[in-house]
Amino acid sequence: MSYYLGIDIGGTNVKVAVVADDGSVKALAKRWWSGGEPSELVSVATELADVVVSEVTEAPVACGVGCAGIVVHGLGVVRRSPNLPTWHDVRLAEMLGERIALPLVIDNDANAAAYAEYLVGAARDATSAVVITLGTGMGAGIILNDSVYRGNQGFAGEIGHTTVDLSGRTPCACGASGCLESLVNAESLVNRALSLIERGASSLLDASAGVLTAQKIGAAAAEGDEVALAAVEGLGRALGVGLANITAMLDPEIIVIGGGVAEVGRPLLDTASDELIKRTLRCREELPRVVPAALGPAAGVAGAALLARDKFLR
Ligand SMILES: [Zn+2]
Repeated sequence: MSYYLGIDIGGTNVKVAVVADDGSVKALAKRWWSGGEPSELVSVATELADVVVSEVTEAPVACGVGCAGIVVHGLGVVRRSPNLPTWHDVRLAEMLGERIALPLVIDNDANAAAYAEYLVGAARDATSAVVITLGTGMGAGIILNDSVYRGNQGFAGEIGHTTVDLSGRTPCACGASGCLESLVNAESLVNRALSLIERGASSLLDASAGVLTAQKIGAAAAEGDEVALAAVEGLGRALGVGLANITAMLDPEIIVIGGGVAEVGRPLLDTASDELIKRTLRCREELPRVVPAALGPAAGVAGAALLARDKFLR
């Protein structure tokens, strides 16, 4: 069995793991990171890599990196990233390669997570899949004909930045407004619940008891709290619109939903699936299956490592 290093760079944290060639995570380290300069990221990732490599008996043979933003896979360059505002045309593969002496490949973080779900997770029996990660933002990776589809310039999969509300005013991290992401991210779930509470609805969610989070809303929804359920339903309907657009464009076998917001669980997926059915001419059996992600928050590091495995060792 060979080991690979996987690095997952988001806007708020960095994860580094040693991953076996079956996708299992053997050691994992994570650090909160405020999305600073690329050189700072390289230092953090290198330190975490030293930690995880020291925890396993066999040295990794290649390294895969998933990074939030527009990544030109073939060049190892991060063009820009809404989550990393100071990054422009960063030669990340070169910078990391100088510190981590391994063959190294870079991809978008959502592509990496999608690749893991496709190979060893919820989409492992499919040949086409869209894997969505709902959290602070909305990421999506596309698998078509058993390959990651990146598009001509690496922009494919930016489904969160498709416009779904022409008169939408909520500004998006991409600079536009009316984007799907701003209707389905964690902040939008919290805002839906807060606006219901402000209008006088009674709820288990006491806005005065600390910061309201997507996790708290998910827990209240599981208890049957009406405000939490209404907030989840509102988000689920917006997500369903996005799923209908994805289905019209790509007709994948399966759509996988993961990320912190997706931990809300069944009520979210059921509402989104119902909205998808309403917005297409096809019957339920002809539509993509909509399922929860199987791999959890380690999907990004596992997928990055598996991308390295398949680029360098197969
Ligand atoms: Zn946007």
